[in-house]
Amino acid sequence: MYTFRGPVPHRGRTRLGWLPIYIVPQTRLPANLGGLSVCGGYTASRLDLHLRDYIPDHRGRGPCMVINDGHLRATYPEDFDYYFTATVLHELAHLLMQPWLYDERATATPEALRREARRVADMVATETPEDGHPPFEGHGAQFIRVALHLRHRAEMCGTWLAPNDLCAGHRYSLSHARRYQVALADEPERLATMSIAKIITTKPPPEFAQLWADDVHAHFQSLSRFQRSHSMKATALLDKIAGRQQERRQAREADFRRLVVQVADGQEPDAETIEHVLGGNQKTIDDLREAVELLQHRRDLRRTVDNSPNLGEERQRIEKEMAEANRIYNEANAKHDRTVDPLHARLRELRTLVSEAEQARRELWDTCRDEELVERLDKVSRPLTEQSRRLGAMETEARNLRNEAKYEREQAGHAERKPDADAHTEEAARCDTEAKQLERELPALRRQVADLERQGAAIRQQMLVP
Ligand SMILES: [Zn+2]
Repeated sequence: MYTFRGPVPHRGRTRLGWLPIYIVPQTRLPANLGGLSVCGGYTASRLDLHLRDYIPDHRGRGPCMVINDGHLRATYPEDFDYYFTATVLHELAHLLMQPWLYDERATATPEALRREARRVADMVATETPEDGHPPFEGHGAQFIRVALHLRHRAEMCGTWLAPNDLCAGHRYSLSHARRYQVALADEPERLATMSIAKIITTKPPPEFAQLWADDVHAHFQSLSRFQRSHSMKATALLDKIAGRQQERRQAREADFRRLVVQVADGQEPDAETIEHVLGGNQKTIDDLREAVELLQHRRDLRRTVDNSPNLGEERQRIEKEMAEANRIYNEANAKHDRTVDPLHARLRELRTLVSEAEQARRELWDTCRDEELVERLDKVSRPLTEQSRRLGAMETEARNLRNEAKYEREQAGHAERKPDADAHTEEAARCDTEAKQLERELPALRRQVADLERQGAAIRQQMLVP
């Protein structure tokens, strides 16, 4: 049940009074005037003019409504009269809420009115609640209040109608009409004689206003929940898209890494693959070169890392061998020290003892006061010193002569002229002869010296006696 709200009527009757109300069944209208409409009924500000040809008992201007009797009969075959009456009351409530009951302008030509009639019927037939408009728009608190007042007045005339068949309820996203009726309390009885136009200028009971406010609040709450769930769906969808994009990016990156490996391994990828993979990753051939070089460098590094355990093993083996050698060396060293140290000590001791003995011996000689022994030693010492000096000189002279002879013979061998050679040979022979004479005398002299030494030693031996 819709109200066609076309151009706002600029002027017209505001009170119903004794005006005629035209109630036109849809089935009486031709197909081009909303024959396919399934809405319960509608009104429009100049509907009485549009439908004048189909109103047999026309008595001048007045509010007009179309009731879709065909639809009501098909939907409620057994309760047609009831729903027809309910629909009329619903549309009447709309009519009575208008500032003017109809638009008084009637200057349009018959042809223009016919066009307007068709347009209105078409729009009513196709009208659906607009997106973003609450389902109770046009059927709010004021409409419900008017409908409930009309319901009461109809009841007073002997026609009972269920409140929910007129207004409010689930189809408008509102509480059941019975609750509005309870909230309105006895107002329809109290104001039964007041005009509807007057009633809607007064405040409804607070319970009624509260119920309406709660309904509107609840509706927008559920709406925002619905929108939230929608926005959560959008978020989930975006997350899914983002996830898919990430997967695709990872796949592209994997393609690039594979390409790098391929090139580094010396395999030649076809040009199309290179172009596809580089393009997909927004990379250039230089990027590829750099990545390949990096991979090769990293492989080198890895080889170095992998080789290190072997080097470690060898190092450990060497260190172990060195440790063993050092152990043996240290052990031998210790053994050597253990052996040598006491020997060294003993040797030092012996040297000291020898030196002490020598000193003691000298001192014994120096301190000997035996005049005879001292005189005898003196008699031996003087010729011993003289003969020893002579023996030494003769030995040195003989050695020198032999060396000179040897030298002259060598010179003779090297001489270029014979006279020179002969002279050298002659000189060599003279040296040899002289040396031979000295050497003949030496043994006797040596025996003499040795004899003197023996005598001296014997005397010194005696001088050691304290
Ligand atoms: Zn309506």
